[in-house]
Amino acid sequence: MKVYFLGTGTSQGIPVIGSNHPVCNSNDFKDKRLRVSVWISWENHSFVIDCGPDFRQQMLTSGCQKLDGILFTHEHADHTAGIDDIRPFNFKQGNIPIYLDDRVLVSLKQRFAYVFETVNKYPGAPSVEPILVKNNQNFKIGDKTAIPIYVMHGDLPVFGYRIDDFAYLTDVKTVEDGEIEKLKGLKVLVVNALREEPHHSHFSLQEALDFITLVNPEKAYLTHISHTMGFHEEVQKRLPANIFLAYDNLQITI
Ligand SMILES: [Zn+2]
Repeated sequence: MKVYFLGTGTSQGIPVIGSNHPVCNSNDFKDKRLRVSVWISWENHSFVIDCGPDFRQQMLTSGCQKLDGILFTHEHADHTAGIDDIRPFNFKQGNIPIYLDDRVLVSLKQRFAYVFETVNKYPGAPSVEPILVKNNQNFKIGDKTAIPIYVMHGDLPVFGYRIDDFAYLTDVKTVEDGEIEKLKGLKVLVVNALREEPHHSHFSLQEALDFITLVNPEKAYLTHISHTMGFHEEVQKRLPANIFLAYDNLQITI
């Protein structure tokens, strides 16, 4: 399975509009971060986790030709606002399956009512096939099993996903012990680390490192990164040998 980091930034992306922060002015390509998402593919299967406002650019840059579905973590705009741009895939393939919590579907129906219109729907509008995700109910994506991981983003429940020995958890602040059990034996864990300073709904760097120690994957990649985390190169030097700051367009094989 290939994992392509389409975006590794927090909700505003890096650089932040109008910011003079040194990280926003950095010339290092690893300090440029689109909104967070990954593309996972194997054989002829191709899925993304989340579909944020940079989706169009991410699909063009990565060269993604086909999309078998979108797994949503939660409804926040930095994870969902790109849904209008699935249209090129609709024109080639028809409805795109979207895997999501019932609450996330209600939110998308409010915010993107035209996508879910059943009467007089505009012919060029995006079309999706919702598939509800429930905790403790594994589901199939292609010929693989996706295991939902139920975690908390402050007060908001969010789904992470485990597929084989890969797990992707973003926008996490707290995780119950029972869910940590579902993460045993991972080769690769991707988890959010916003910045050094604590935050009410995201892991800080130290919280992410402590969580990685608990889960004990072979390797871990940090994502959903704020410009206030610092320069990629400097932060990476301070991390343990099996922990990496992800960056946009990084590709790994599991
Ligand atoms: Zn987010």
